[in-house]
Amino acid sequence: MKKVLITGAAGFLGSHLCDRFIKEGCHVIGMDNLITGNMDNIQHLFALKQFEFYHHDVSKFVHVPGELDYILHFASPASPIDYLQMPIQTMKVGSLGTHNLLGLAKAKNARILVASTSEVYGDPEVHPQTEEYWGNVNPIGPRGVYDEAKRFQEAITMAYHNFHGLETRIVRIFNTYGPRMRINDGRALPAFLSQAINGEPLTVFGDGSQTRSFCYVDDLVEGIYRLLKSDYHLPVNIGNPDEITIGEFAEEIIGLVEDKNLEVIYKPLPKDDPKRRRPDTTKAKEILGWEAQVDRREGLRRTYEYFRSVLQPMEA
Ligand code: UDP
Repeated sequence: MKKVLITGAAGFLGSHLCDRFIKEGCHVIGMDNLITGNMDNIQHLFALKQFEFYHHDVSKFVHVPGELDYILHFASPASPIDYLQMPIQTMKVGSLGTHNLLGLAKAKNARILVASTSEVYGDPEVHPQTEEYWGNVNPIGPRGVYDEAKRFQEAITMAYHNFHGLETRIVRIFNTYGPRMRINDGRALPAFLSQAINGEPLTVFGDGSQTRSFCYVDDLVEGIYRLLKSDYHLPVNIGNPDEITIGEFAEEIIGLVEDKNLEVIYKPLPKDDPKRRRPDTTKAKEILGWEAQVDRREGLRRTYEYFRSVLQPMEA
C-alpha cells in the first residue's frame, strides 16, 4: 500500500486529492494548520483506517514517522483576499514549507509534487500561457507574496531535482472550481454564487472584460494524478482552456440560479489583476494524455448544488 502525505489536506484541492488517493487504495496522511482549511471537507475520512490527520504548520519542521512514497504539497492560502490578509504566512508556506517538504522527500526517498500556479505568469504578455513563458510578475505588488513564493517554490524544487536527483513534479494550476470551495474566500465563483443564492447583486470588478478559464476540480485532480505517475519533472499547466470574460461569467451564474431580478454592480479592479488568462495545455495532452472533460455548464450545476446545501441547508 502506497503511503502519501498531502499538505493542505483540509482545503478545497487537498481534500479532493485525499479522496482520490484513498480511492486508489493508498494510505493517506493529511496535514493542515487550518488557517484557511476546513475540517468539514475531510470529516468523512476519519472513520477510515487508511486515513490519518496531523494538525501542523508545514512552515515548521515536518516529521512523519515511517516510510513515504509520495508527497503532495498543497498547503497555502490561495485566494487574493487570503494572501492579502496573510502575506507572511503565504510567503512562508511557499518557501520554508516547500523546503521542509523537499527535505522530507529526500530523507524518505519519496517523490514530491508541488502545487504551483498560473500566477507565476503574473499579468501575462503571452496568450495563451505556455510553460516556456517566464511571466510578468510585480514582486512588490499585492499579489507578489503569492506569486513570488510560488516562483521560489518552483526554483527550489528544480534545485533539489538537479542537485540531489530528487523525483519532483510541478503542476501549474489554473483557476479551478467545484464543491468545497470556501464560500467567503473572495474569489469570483464563490462570490457570485453566494451573492446569487442570497439574492444580492453580483460584484464584478473593473468593467468585467478580464478573462479567466475555469477548470472543474475532478478534471484537475485527474491531471495531477497523471502527472505524479508520469516521469516528467518540468512544470505542466493543468487547466481548462475554455476562456470567458468575468462579465459573461457573472451572467452565466445569474442564468444558473434562474433569478431574473439579480443585478450586476461594478467595483474597482484590484491592483495587478491579470487581464487575460488561458492555459496552453499542449504539454498535458502530449505527456499525460490529459484534457479537461467537464464543461462549465455541468461543473457549475454541481457546484451550485454544493453551495445551496451549505447556504440553504433546509431547502436543498
Ligand atoms: N472578481 C470579480 N468579483 C468578485 C471577485 C473576483 O469580478 O467578487 C474578478 C477578479 O477581479 C478577477 C476574476 O474575477 O479578475 C477572478 O478572480 P479570482 O479572485 O477568482 O481569481 P484570480 O484568477 O484573480 O486569482
